Amino acid sequence: MAVATEREYGLFIGGELVEPASGEVRELTEPASGDALARAAMAGTEDVDRAVQAARAAVEGPWGKTPATERGRLLHALADAIAANRKELTELEARNVGKAVSSVKAEVFQGVENFRFYGSAVSAIGGRSNPIGGSLLYYSLKEPVGVAGQIVPWNYPLMMATWKLAPALAAGCAVVLKPDPATPLTALRMAELATEVGFPPGSINVVPGDGPTTGAHLVGHPGVDKVAFTGSTATGSEIMRLCADPIKRLTLELGGKSPNIVFADADLDSAIPSSVWAIYYSAGQSCEARSRVLVEASLYDEFVSRFAEYAQAVKVGDPLDPETQMGSLISAAHRDKVHRFVEGGVDEGAEVVTGGEPADGRGAFYPPTVLAQVENRMLVAQEEIFGPVVTVIPFEDEKDAIRIANDVKYGLFATVWTGDPARGPRLASRIKSGMVGVNMPYTGFPGVPFGGFKQSGFGRELGLETLDLYLETKSVLVSTSPKPINPWAL
Ligand code: NAD
Repeated sequence: MAVATEREYGLFIGGELVEPASGEVRELTEPASGDALARAAMAGTEDVDRAVQAARAAVEGPWGKTPATERGRLLHALADAIAANRKELTELEARNVGKAVSSVKAEVFQGVENFRFYGSAVSAIGGRSNPIGGSLLYYSLKEPVGVAGQIVPWNYPLMMATWKLAPALAAGCAVVLKPDPATPLTALRMAELATEVGFPPGSINVVPGDGPTTGAHLVGHPGVDKVAFTGSTATGSEIMRLCADPIKRLTLELGGKSPNIVFADADLDSAIPSSVWAIYYSAGQSCEARSRVLVEASLYDEFVSRFAEYAQAVKVGDPLDPETQMGSLISAAHRDKVHRFVEGGVDEGAEVVTGGEPADGRGAFYPPTVLAQVENRMLVAQEEIFGPVVTVIPFEDEKDAIRIANDVKYGLFATVWTGDPARGPRLASRIKSGMVGVNMPYTGFPGVPFGGFKQSGFGRELGLETLDLYLETKSVLVSTSPKPINPWAL
């Protein structure tokens, strides 16, 4: 099916695409070519108010009355609908983000699996009853928090939307989702599919718009009971402030500067190509990109030269070419920001081994870049560059590797490559991050909690425990005593 490139997208409120009260419609371009892609309505504050109202009506009406088993069935039906429309969604996402279609295929598949996981996980929602003695019956109820305001970034628009929507809907919340204004298309299309499979009006609303205005209005809206945010640490901190006064429930999935630790005893035939993938996948625009490669000093020179060879072999190009492994960055402005980081690294003493110059042409391309002779104190080793730039840092021994790995404000993911079977688990217990991979580079599996320590945020996605972040626990105590209750014997 041809992608809807000619199409104009409205906001999705109350079960249908609607005109924005703001009147604002933006031209979206394809970052890889600079060509026009589509026109998308942008929500203003009045539109957010309408969406929150629709969500509230849903949660207090038909959606709130939908039994858990039916919610599970709907989530499975949405998974089926996404799978059936995967070609359209994949092409739309690849064009909108500039990301290689080979990567997007995996992300759409993961989105499908994610709806399936939470569709089945509704059966795990339940209170408990335990003996507390005397003639009291105690039981607990799990109730949806209510209306969830969810904000997602531009790097995985469809997948991030599924990470947010699936647990919230499984828990029985209604959602107002705000995608990044540059990448709203697949979330809007998913909302349409959700309505087609039977989700009641108002259960899912999608309001693309700018962060500091539309996003902040959603966060602070008195009708929003819980906020879930994925994005940069700086924005996360601002959102936390907005949630402080009304004591809103909040979860934050933020940035990272994740270490990839390679010991000299590692199987380099796995470690090197996997390390290359772990930074350049999604052109480095991943929160869990392993952007700091820590290499045992004795291996450093050999590692850097082999890594650079593989980096040069990554197929960069047209996102829609099935052979492409790395597409463009999200925009020319972002590419310039990435390049400024590289220039700053060179000023601080890093050496560009390969890459390091923006490509010519209209597309926002930047080549896979390797910076060597990096010290962990440098800005390029401390700040999230969010582009295809890896910093390679030597370490002396295990203790030194752990020290460097932990010496950043972030703590999202760490990968350890070693031939010593005891070393992986030993490091896993000492590295301060929400996820650790031993001799494997992947993360993001439905059922495996995803999230960070330190300034990478709090709360977990993808796990069973994520459901609890959208539920309140209510304790009920009932007297079963036939005698009157007269505590002071009055
Ligand atoms: P960003 O913080 O600028 O924007 C993210 C979202 O927040 C967008 O929808 C934006 O419009 C909105 N926003 C911006 N300012 C806001 C405000 N004041 N109030 C409310 N909403 C606001 O981040 P970005 O640069 O678009 O995305 C990349 C960041 O996301 C990176 O730091 C990356 O590490 C992080 N990320 C984290 C995870 C994770 O799971 N930990 C996953 C993907 C991306």
